[in-house]
This record gives sequence, C-alpha cells and structure tokens, in this order.
Amino acid sequence: MSTALDTYLIAAQKGINNKNHRTYSEGIFEYYQTVLKNADSNFKYSNLLKKRASFSKYKAINDLEKYLVDFESLFTRRGGRIIWAADHEEATKEIIKLLRDKGIQKTTKSNSKTANEIQLNKALENGNIDYLETEFNAFFNQLQKNKPESASVPILNTDFAHASQNIQKNFSLDERNTKQTIDYVKKYLINQCTQIRACITGVNFLVSDIGGLVICENQGNISMTTSFPEIHIALCGVEKMIPSLVDLEKFLHLLATHTSNDMLPWNTQIITGPRQEGEIDGPKELYLVLIDNKRTEVMKHVQQREIFNCIHCGSCTSVCPVYKLIGGEPYGGVYVGPVGSVVNPFMMDFHYAAHQSYACTLCKRCTEVCPMNIPIHELILQNRKEAVRREFYVTLDRLRIKQLRKMMIKRAAMDSWLPNYMLKMSYKKLFGSQKIFPDLSQHSFNVRYREKYDIK
Ligand code: SF4
Repeated sequence: MSTALDTYLIAAQKGINNKNHRTYSEGIFEYYQTVLKNADSNFKYSNLLKKRASFSKYKAINDLEKYLVDFESLFTRRGGRIIWAADHEEATKEIIKLLRDKGIQKTTKSNSKTANEIQLNKALENGNIDYLETEFNAFFNQLQKNKPESASVPILNTDFAHASQNIQKNFSLDERNTKQTIDYVKKYLINQCTQIRACITGVNFLVSDIGGLVICENQGNISMTTSFPEIHIALCGVEKMIPSLVDLEKFLHLLATHTSNDMLPWNTQIITGPRQEGEIDGPKELYLVLIDNKRTEVMKHVQQREIFNCIHCGSCTSVCPVYKLIGGEPYGGVYVGPVGSVVNPFMMDFHYAAHQSYACTLCKRCTEVCPMNIPIHELILQNRKEAVRREFYVTLDRLRIKQLRKMMIKRAAMDSWLPNYMLKMSYKKLFGSQKIFPDLSQHSFNVRYREKYDIK
C-alpha cells in the first residue's frame, strides 16, 4: 500500500473525528438543501438552460486553442498583458517579480481557488510582500492564520461572535457587538483598498469574443479592491474560457442559483482592459496570469476533460457523502470532493492521488445536482479505468485479485473457510478498524434457495 494512501486514510480519520468539521459540513449540507431545492424552480426551462450552458462550455474546452488566441488578441489590443504560466511555481515567480519591479510592498487580495491552488499566500510571504485579504472570512482566517475550508461558501465556516472577539483583540477595540465589529472591519478594508497600490483577484470566466474577464462576487469586496489600485493582477486557469458574451447570462444564472439562492451574483464585473484614455477610474495596468498547472494533462483525456465545464458552484461537494464525512484535508489540495477526485490524479502525481477516485460510493448525487450536466460519477469511473491502465495496483494487489478470482469461480473453493479468511486478511487495512468485514455465505444461492423453499 502506498504512503500516499496511508496519508489519505490518516487525514480522513482525522476529518471523521473532527467535531468542528462535522458541524461545518452539516451547516453546508443544510444550506445547500435549500439552495438546490429552489435552484431549478427559478426557471421554467431549467433543463434547457443547463444543456445550452453545458454545450457552450463543451465548445470552448474542445476548441480551447482557438478561443485562447481570439481572447489574447482582443485583451492585449486594449492594453491588458498576459503572463502565461506553465505551473504554480512559474505563476508565483512572475507575480512576485512583477510586484517587486513595480516597487510594491503590499497588495490586496480577494479569496480565489486559483490563488489557493498556486499557494500564493505562501509565495507572497516568502517574497516579503505583505497582503491583505479583503473577503471577510479570508480576512478573519488571515488574522487567525487558518486555512480556508471552502472557497465556494467560505462564509459558513465563520463563527461571527468568535471572529468579532478576535478582531476586537487584534485591533485593540473597545467592547462592541458583532455588527459593530463587522462595520469596523468594512471601514478598515475600504480605507486600506484606497491606499494599497496593487490588487490580486481570481476570475470566474474569460470571454473570448470580447477579450474580457468576468469576476463575480457577493460581498462587494472585489469591486472595491479593483476600483482603487494602479495595478490589477488577475489569476485564472485556462479552462475558464467561454466562447461569447451572449453565453455569459446562462453561466451567471446557474452560478448564482446554485451557490446562493439568487438569480444573479450580487456583483459582476466585466473587465476588458486597463483604464483607457478619458476614463476616470480603474487600474492603469492590468495583468492576467493564465495558468496551466497540468490542466492540459486532464485535457488529454477526452472524457475527463468534461470536468472543465465546471463553474465551481460547489453543489457536488456539498452533497457528497464522502466529503461530508472526511472533509477537505485528505484531498491534499484545493480541489476537494467529487471535482478533486476527478482532477487530482492528473493535476497531482497520478500515483500520489489515484486512490481519490476510489473514495467514492458512486451514489451519483453529484451528477444529479450539477448545473453543468457533468457526469461526474462516470468520470470517476474513467479514472479508475485509467488507474488500471497505468498499473496503479502494486504486484501484491494483482496477485491477491488473481487468487481471489481463481477461488471465486470454483464452488468447492467457495464453500470452504478460505475465501472469508483471504478477503478479511487482504482488505483488513482498507476496510478500517471501525467496520467488520462481512462473511460470504458458505453455500451457493442454488443450495440456499432450495433449502428455503424446500425444493428437492
Ligand atoms: S462539477 Fe458541477 S456541481 Fe460540481 S462544482 Fe462544478 S459545476 Fe458545480
């Protein structure tokens, strides 16, 4: 058994025993039950909407090169600059270099999955560049040096009363209630955003036919972050492409209805370049860091590539019984739950993360709730097939399966004590100490049926 699997099992056990995680995931689960109940009822033709959105994304992903070229030419024509990054190291190196070249010592940041994926905070700290998280939960986590639990519904893991007390302590404030503390934080963040010269944000969609970036949010912190500084650095994976502005409406509806029970995100910015001549606000310089980070590895697989239709609404994760139990830690990265199970084996080392595709009950709940009609459970099965193809199993597993197969096709062997013994010994560790491996019947179905109905 691989060390990676051992690490996974230990982290999973830790997640199961973690009461805070359990309360947090129960909270998300309940929240999403309401969100998902209402999501489809918002539209008369919700299935058609999903089909159309899914088709637009399918087009973009399957002809990505063309859409990227179109996007680049329009984006750069209006003064935006693109930094292509093959992996997370290249991305962070370029960001630090850019900030240093511009003499920037502090930047604001919005919470983003891509930033977490490239471990931007760590890189900024190592590069001696100060940063300020502007989304409330991330700001609180920064004060507490906590890792964010989820980028889709981060607000849920915040205990506001606790956060309020800590903020009062950190800023040496007089005693005040939670609302007053939140008001104080808002004013503090606005004030900081007006003074800090650079901001770093994520991106929700790249729109090919206008060369534009789309950023959605519900708190208003990103609009605030991008309005004042001279330099805006946007981070994005290449898969965020959509073909046209005409398609955008579908994605915005699906994203909002599947994350927060709204018809549209509260704030949506469409940014097509830096401040143009005659314009009175917006950053003077706009950089887009376009990250591959092994996305092309996933794209090599025609079926698995469908996972890039994902709009990161978080619905699948919140209904996943495995995630609910073990939490995000065992996935060892920013992509957790069903999406993590599909992409991690390719985006991390295959032999390091292939087992994640096996930690799935195949209940299909993720597929049922996905607004982009991604057959997630089928992609997980494809990964298992790939694992067999890549000989993920070690020789010992192969021998074990071979032996078991031999035994199982002979009734005489099955009637002995050996199969039960072998199964128990072989899968003892995988089955865990909490459960008892069930016994196989010592008699065939034929014999048991005849016995039950007294058939001679
Ligand atoms: S796979 Fe589907 S349900 Fe899961 S986050 Fe992506 S769009 Fe949402």
